[in-house]
Amino acid sequence: MNSISMDSMRCPCCGDVMEPKEELEISIMYRCKGCKLSDTRLKEKKQT
Ligand SMILES: [Zn+2]
Repeated sequence: MNSISMDSMRCPCCGDVMEPKEELEISIMYRCKGCKLSDTRLKEKKQT
């Protein structure tokens, strides 16, 4: 079963859950629980 959630993302490599590891200024770094792949995703843009 697959459900899409805004809060979690799946590893493109092994499909395991990627957990947010570090919050940066403009992005959040995620790391896969399975293969340890790390990825960053930009936060939602805010009006400046
Ligand atoms: Zn993975």
